[in-house]
Parts: sequence; C-alpha cells; structure tokens
Amino acid sequence: MKKILVLNSGSSSIKFKLFDMDRGEKVLCSGLIERIGEKEARFKLKFGDKKLEKSIDIKDHAHGLSVLQEEMKRENILKSFQELGGVGHRVVHGGEYFDKAVLIDDSVLEKIEELSPLAPLHNPVNLLGIKAIFKQHPNIPQVAVFDTAFHQTIDKKTFMYALPYEYYEKEKIRRYGFHGTSHHFVMQKAAEVLQKDTNKINLITLHLGNGDSATAVKEGKSIDTSMGFTPLEGLVMGTRCGDLDPAIVFYLSKKLGLNIEELDKILNKKSGLKGICGDNDMREIEKRASQGDEKAKLALEVFCYRIKKYIGAYTVTIGKVDAIVFTGGIGENSSLVREMVCIGLEDSIGAKLDTEKNQKNELIISKNDSKIKILVIPTDEEFEIANQTYNEVANR
Ligand code: AMP
Repeated sequence: MKKILVLNSGSSSIKFKLFDMDRGEKVLCSGLIERIGEKEARFKLKFGDKKLEKSIDIKDHAHGLSVLQEEMKRENILKSFQELGGVGHRVVHGGEYFDKAVLIDDSVLEKIEELSPLAPLHNPVNLLGIKAIFKQHPNIPQVAVFDTAFHQTIDKKTFMYALPYEYYEKEKIRRYGFHGTSHHFVMQKAAEVLQKDTNKINLITLHLGNGDSATAVKEGKSIDTSMGFTPLEGLVMGTRCGDLDPAIVFYLSKKLGLNIEELDKILNKKSGLKGICGDNDMREIEKRASQGDEKAKLALEVFCYRIKKYIGAYTVTIGKVDAIVFTGGIGENSSLVREMVCIGLEDSIGAKLDTEKNQKNELIISKNDSKIKILVIPTDEEFEIANQTYNEVANR
C-alpha cells in the first residue's frame, strides 16, 4: 500500500501524479484533466515513455476521478484506487489551523470549508477532489497538504499588519505566506547538499516562477516570507504586482473610475512583468532584452531589484545565512536572473557567484570561498505532497 496519488484540483481541472514510495519514490504516471464541465474535456496521461491524450465528456470532478481510475486500469498502471496507500491533496489555505499536513476527517473538512473566504478560488475546488474520493472510496486515507502550513512558524510581530486589531481577530487578516510546500522541499534538499541538520540550517529560499516568493528560513523554520494575506504581496511576479502602496488603489479608483473587480484584475492579472513590458514569460523577456528592448530590460531590472531587496532584509533578519537557494521555473533555469540578483552580494553580504557554474546551471553556483553558498535546487511540490501524505498515513 505504498502507492500515493497526488491531486491538485482547480476549478475546471485536476492535475495528478502517482508515486510508488516503495520503489525509490518512482513516478508511475502523471497527467491532467482539463476543461471539466465543458463540452469536451481533455484527458492527458503520461506513463513510462508513453503519452495518451483524448477528449471525453467529463461532467464534474467526481466523474473525472472515475475516468482517471478506468484509464489507469486500462493501461495496467493500477487495478483500482483501492490499491492506493493514500491520496494527498494540495490545499491552498490552512489558515491558523494547520501547521503541517493532516489526515482528513470531518472536522478537517469543516475547517477547510470555513477558510474558503480566504482563498475563494482555491479551497472550495480543492474540497471537490477530496469529497469525490471520500464518496467513491471512503476507506482510502486522504491527507491535506497546505501551501500555508510551513509559514505557520512566523511570529506575530512579523505576520501582523498595522491595521485595526479587530481585523485580525474578526476577519483573520494577517500575513499567511504561500508556496510553503516548495520552500520546505528545497530547504530539506539544501540541508542534504550542505550536510547540515534541517533544524540547524539558515537559508533564503527564492521560489521564482509565474508566482514568486522569498522565504527566510532559520533553524529549518520559516521566520518570514514575502507573500502575505494573499499571494499578491511581495516579489514582482508574472502578472501580479507584488508590494504596492495601497493608496494607488484608491487613487486609480477615483481618477479612472475603476471598480474593485477591475482593480483586482489589474493587480493580479495585468501587472508584474506583464504590466511593465507586455510579456510574462521570462524566456521571451530575456530574448527581447538581449535585442535591446527597453521595456523588457526594465521589467528584468525591477524583478531582480525586488528580489535583492528581500535578500538584504532577510539576511539581517536571519543573522547568519548558510545559503541562498534558487528554485522554480525561473530560479532553476535563468542564469541571467540569478546573475542580476547576485551582482553586488559579494561586497554586501559575502555571497560570491561563480559565473561559469551559474551559466552551467550547476547545483552549487557560488565560488568555493563564498561565505554564503548559492544553490540551484529544482523544486518538486508533488513529491513533497506525496512524501508528507505517506508519512501522515504511516503515523496514523
Ligand atoms: P513556473 O511557474 O515555476 O513553471 O515557472 C514559469 C516561468 O519560468 C516562466 O516565466 C518561464 O518563462 C520561466 N522559465 C522556464 N524555463 C526558462 C529558461 N530556460 N530561462 C528563463 N526562464 C525560464
């Protein structure tokens, strides 16, 4: 019973990955069901060196999971979901209730539901996947792995906003932080690379992708992170603005007559790299910048400067930093972004980039005598969810 299915349910999609935790954490298959509830849903499955793709009518998430089970059976990947040791779900918001992954029962379901107003686009759809499995296979243990859990160690002076206190008490307004699964995963990997115990490691982890966040890790615990009440705060992102003077929102509303929904869309979908230069794909931005495009160059500079500012702040907060860790699509692949972020860090904090190692995307990209190491560690959020699920199921 060592097979763990990881599910990431979106409003009209389910991403899945099946691991065999007994066989060196082997991935047995992975894939995606898209356009659930629309006329023709797409089902994509990858296993071994084979790929399967087809259009099927899938009316809801429960139906999608039945189709997934049938397809896995047909391809001899799994006889039935009953073979599973557990199902791990990505759940975006665990609020102040959950500081680690948890086996799902009725009270956990209630709490995830109660937290839905804090993540209205995510928690309700995460619940759809959980409920569908419970209905079809009530005896399979299910585990919720929260994006916010790793950051629950952040202390009150750090997570409080300077707003009237009642908004924290009554409306739960505080900084929560996200991408916790990724920051936790790379923290553990970094400890392996540096041969240190996880409870002794001090890091600045940078998850740079379409969404971006920086975390200060002290003695293996998150002590600060750049995303806040929602994933809108902090670093410049693909389409999200990150840190902003809140007065800009009132100003734009009054000056341009924009309503709350329009402003929400502008800040979340039309800002960030895309807002500055029109593109949110870093590969495209790098290409344009290399051809002399001024807006693309500016977007890159704004993006990297914001990261550098957080590195400065977190270095002071942590005290002695062992390593800066780059991860995510940009962090793992863009030597240019890493170089722009690291320029000047040698004099300021003693992090010396080795440009040759950086170019080659090596695991350790700092010079041998660098006081602070610089690492590139590919993230694997699905594996982290599978691993946490496996551990929770084993300990029950
Ligand atoms: P993610 O959200 O982690 O999948 O990351 C997506 C981002 O990574 C996009 O902005 C991509 O353009 C960027 N990315 C992926 N590969 C590369 C690459 N080789 N060089 C630069 N950026 C990349």
